This record gives sequence, C-alpha cells and structure tokens, in this order.
Amino acid sequence: MWGDKRYHTLDWELKNTFGEKVIKLSLDGGFTCPNRDGTLGIRGCVFCGENGAGDFAGSPTLSIQEQILQQKKLLASKWPRGKYLAYFQNFTNTYAPVSRLDELYQDALLGDDIVGIAIATRPDCLPGETLDLLEAYANRTYLWVELGLQTIKPSTATVIRRGFDLECFKKAVNALQSRGIPVVVHLIFGLPGESREDYLDSVRFVAGLGVWGVKLHMLHVQRDTDLSQFYQEKPFPLLGRDQYIDVVCDALEILSPDVVIHRVTGDGKRELLEVPRWSLDKLRVLSGIDRELRERGSIQGKKYPSP
Ligand code: SF4
Repeated sequence: MWGDKRYHTLDWELKNTFGEKVIKLSLDGGFTCPNRDGTLGIRGCVFCGENGAGDFAGSPTLSIQEQILQQKKLLASKWPRGKYLAYFQNFTNTYAPVSRLDELYQDALLGDDIVGIAIATRPDCLPGETLDLLEAYANRTYLWVELGLQTIKPSTATVIRRGFDLECFKKAVNALQSRGIPVVVHLIFGLPGESREDYLDSVRFVAGLGVWGVKLHMLHVQRDTDLSQFYQEKPFPLLGRDQYIDVVCDALEILSPDVVIHRVTGDGKRELLEVPRWSLDKLRVLSGIDRELRERGSIQGKKYPSP
C-alpha cells in the first residue's frame, strides 16, 4: 500500500521524497510543436487543442517567474503550504535551441521552494545536445521527462497523427534512461479502433521498459479539435466510466509496483470537453478505481511481470 492507496501515486512518491506536499506549477515556455509548425504537420495530433496539452498552464505572455507567482496564488487556497515543482507542460518543451532551454529551465529553478522540474516533450525532439543539457539538470535537481506514447498500435498512431514511430520512442527512452533521466510515459485508453486488449498491449510494452512513471488518461473529445469533427462525422464507441475503471485496474496490476502513477484520469477543461462528460467527475473515477482494486483484493503490480 502507498498511504491509503493501492497504487504508487505521484503524491505519495513526492511526499516520501521531500517530506511534504509538492505542488506542480504548470508553465508555458512559449514552445510550439513539430506536429504543428509545419515540420511534420500543421494540425497536430487529432486530440490536441489550441493549448497543446496544457489547458491549465500559465500564459506564455508572462515570464516564467511571473507564471510561477501566478500559479502559486491560484493554488494557494487548495494547498496553502508545500514545496513546488515547475512543470513545462504545453506543447513540446525541448523544441528550441539548447541556450533557450537552459534559460527557461534555470528561470524555473530560481526560487528556494522549487524542488525540481518536469518537462513534457516528444521522443523526436531530443537531439544529443538537448540530452546533454537534461542530463546536467538531472544531476543538479529533481527532474523527469514525459513522453506521450498514447498507444503502441501503428494504425492508431497514424489515425491520431502522432508523427513518430515506436522505434523512435524506444530510442528516446533508452537515451534518457542511459543518462539517468527518469521517464514518464503517457497512454490513452479509448482511442478509435482500439480494444481493451490493445490498451493492455500498450501497458505491457511500457511495463517492460522499466520507466519511472506512467500517466493513464481516457480519451477526451474536446471542442475545436480535429477529433471532435471526426467524432461528429463518424462516431466511434467511447469508454463508459465502469469500463474505464476496469481497464485502469487491469493496467495497474500489470505495472511494476515501482512505477510511479502520475495520473489515472484525464484533466480536461469543463468548457472544452464534449465527451465523455462522466470524466469531469474525477472523484467518482478515483473512488471507483479504489473500490475496484479493493473488491478484487488487488494492488499495483499484482500481475507484474506479465504472465
Ligand atoms: S505532440 Fe503534443 S503538442 Fe504536439 S500536436 Fe501532439 S499533443 Fe499537441
């Protein structure tokens, strides 16, 4: 058990490491993405909204320091005390010259109460000099790098216009891990054309990588995305709440108990989310996962390594 949870939560991991609550501050470093700036495409992944993955992040018109202050104020009523971690969330947060990355990451670490940084990026945006920089930061602060894999199924990767293949992803994970940089992988359950076995195949693959963390999401169809149009023209089955809870519990059983679970629900903005609306009730999803694991008499890692 990890506190009162049957899975290894990020909250537990950070409290255990730093001795108190660590609050993530979502920042926007003003990046774009090769899947949007014309390098690979201009429309991005089909589910990607106009803010990339960071609907709750600070505004890129503000400096990193201003965003940190703003985010701290915003979160103060929920968590009046704690330490902070700077989370570069929007778009591709290694997609700039190394000197610019260094400037932004250094700015983020200026305050004494900032204990580390988290960087979300793509596996095809990690050239050697960027890996060198990340390694240097990993040696001086608490750092992890997040990669959005979403699925291992090639046909789905094409449908969602992910823009990199599994080989590229594996190379990036190896490169990061060989430099001692913790990796967090994002997976989405409910992508069009995928079955429960497909989701679990992706989980089994990730379980075999020895990554530090995993984020599990349900598919969100958000307003003003290509996925929204696709869904209206050709609706595909969406996961119901109970189906999602069930598959998340299956995934947790497959993952090693050492893997830090960063998320088990989506985190979309209410006003942007079209379907599934049940996902807005995060507490119900979280308590459903707790209940299902309890009823199964199960715990994260129960089926690790995969039978
Ligand atoms: S890689 Fe991320 S930021 Fe880029 S288009 Fe896809 S979801 Fe959006």
